[in-house]
Amino acid sequence: MKYLSTRGKIEPIGFKDAVMMGLATDGGLILPEEIPAIDQKTLAAWRNLSYCDLAFEIISLYADDIPPAVLRELIERSYATFRHPETTPLVQKDGVYILELFHGPTLAFKDVALQLLGNLFEYLLKERGERLNILGATSGDTGSAAIAGVRGKENINIFILHPHLKTSPIQARQMTTVLDANVHNIAVKGTFDDCQGIVKSLFNDLEFKKEYSLGAVNSINWARVLAQVVYYFYAWGRLPQDREVTFAVPTGNFGDIFAGYVAKRMGLPVQKLLLATNENNILSRFVKEGDYSLGTVVQTVSPSMDIQLASNFERYLYFLYDEESGRVRDAFCALEKDGRIVFTDEELARVQEEFSTASVGEQETIDTIAEFYKKTGYLLDPHTAVGVRAAQTQVTDGSAAVCLATAHPAKFGEAVERGIGFPPPLPPELAALESLPTRCEVMDPDQEGVKRFLMEKAGSV
Ligand SMILES: *Cc1c(COP(=O)(O)O)cnc(C)c1O
Repeated sequence: MKYLSTRGKIEPIGFKDAVMMGLATDGGLILPEEIPAIDQKTLAAWRNLSYCDLAFEIISLYADDIPPAVLRELIERSYATFRHPETTPLVQKDGVYILELFHGPTLAFKDVALQLLGNLFEYLLKERGERLNILGATSGDTGSAAIAGVRGKENINIFILHPHLKTSPIQARQMTTVLDANVHNIAVKGTFDDCQGIVKSLFNDLEFKKEYSLGAVNSINWARVLAQVVYYFYAWGRLPQDREVTFAVPTGNFGDIFAGYVAKRMGLPVQKLLLATNENNILSRFVKEGDYSLGTVVQTVSPSMDIQLASNFERYLYFLYDEESGRVRDAFCALEKDGRIVFTDEELARVQEEFSTASVGEQETIDTIAEFYKKTGYLLDPHTAVGVRAAQTQVTDGSAAVCLATAHPAKFGEAVERGIGFPPPLPPELAALESLPTRCEVMDPDQEGVKRFLMEKAGSV
């Protein structure tokens, strides 16, 4: 399997190089040259596989330059950290199905991808005799999942900046209680934007970036998308046979729902992909009206979806534009110049064949948490609640609605409490964080200080 860039300016590369490249060197995103088609017989055989066996079948189609025994071991090690024997169990509540993606180490769905990516990085770095210093800024979820993915791994350091005292206490503790020598938390006395500004300018220091092999953790790595394709097939395999399915996906960066689109293109019988957003509804407007125009980000109770520029959207555009990379380049020029991409009626019709959408406001999200709890006794986190409300209002064609549960309710206890009147019970792993020792460097929002810190620590990979 060869990989190309959505912008069309890289030579075809194999899976291993695609993982190490992350963002394509021409500024595009990496995609396989061809999405493999799964026939009915294979699909039927996949129904009964365990999560790891299924993951192996799917991922090995794309990662054909890793020896099968190695790949299997990497997959098994990645999902052994999950607390549920099914990895991503499917439960049925009040007429909808909930696909629980939050049983990994940090109780959010990003673990599914980052546990695998951490192991892939370790394997590839060792093979190449290289080292990697991961640098990133986080307002919460991604940082802790990335740290959990690479803690204790050889030849990797990770440096995560978060705004001092401005993340939720649980999110901060999920990061700072990780004491492995290769994990470096930096609490910046400033805002998330200060953190991001520092990270950006260090990445722009090309000499420094090269000398210290800086790498990023964001949702643009192809391996992250690939890992997420698996649970769409897994969920389908747990449904009653021959039911049409609609997946309701709480969406921010379009990574999760793009994985669903890949599953559909591979031949998974999906009726519709239901794209659910909060008030940051650029993607909803795109699906409804063909209007992709940037607005300003508003803060909501589902903060991991407070995004305007969805980084993975480019991957879908490439397919919408019939795999013509010139048109992708033109579209992003237009976006930069005019702040919007315009679509024809014909393109919009094609979008609406694949996707439906709903944008769910804050009060509706809180109400959904409250109503769902009253009816079923089941607690939804605010991101999941956005997807569930979307399913309740949009899935009217009799297909089975599978709602992706992207975080454990206790991770966003404040929003849940607004719905049900009391804080959700903490699972033991989160409760235990309270009493664990922490390590964190508190620093001024000063790029040079962070740079010096990184140089000092990176020497000790
Ligand atoms: C990251 C995240 C999302 C959004 O996923 P995308 O792949 O960015 O669309 C939704 N919910 C939670 C809890 C998340 O952490």
